[in-house]
Amino acid sequence: MKDVNCIFCKIANGDIPSATLYEDDDFRVILDLGPATKGHALILPKEHFANLFEIPEELETRAFALAKKMAGKMKDALGCDGFNIVQNNGIAAGQTVFHFHIHLIPRYDHDEAGISWKPGTLTEEAKEEILSKMRAN
Ligand code: 5GP
Ligand code: ZN
Repeated sequence: MKDVNCIFCKIANGDIPSATLYEDDDFRVILDLGPATKGHALILPKEHFANLFEIPEELETRAFALAKKMAGKMKDALGCDGFNIVQNNGIAAGQTVFHFHIHLIPRYDHDEAGISWKPGTLTEEAKEEILSKMRAN
């Protein structure tokens, strides 16, 4: 299924042109228009799924396998020093386009991408709460 109001559906299916690094029957890999670093790319499935919770497992597995393959190719081609694979789900997690996608972010020594978080402390109370909630499911 495609969503007529979704920009990534249009890009993935070639209705809007994009800088395409790779394409097959199910996916298109494009350069991000607002790159965190040189080579920042996005894996888009051609079918519309809002996020990780909606995409079927079989397609999701292939999307992450493609992420590994692309990361290897990009590392060789671009000579990056490291690599982040990022996948946001929900506004709280920073998702802005609600069509499942995987960010491929080449990293270079001393780049300024700033992909980080402020480390907290795992308290005994939080640990016990999380373990018990997870075991209950
Ligand atoms: P999110 O925040 O949803 O995980 O990531 C959305 C990404 O899509 C952002 O990095 C943003 O720069 C990129 N983006 C948004 N609109 C377009 C577009 O029209 N074309 C391309 N190539 N990238 C886009
Ligand atoms: Zn879509």
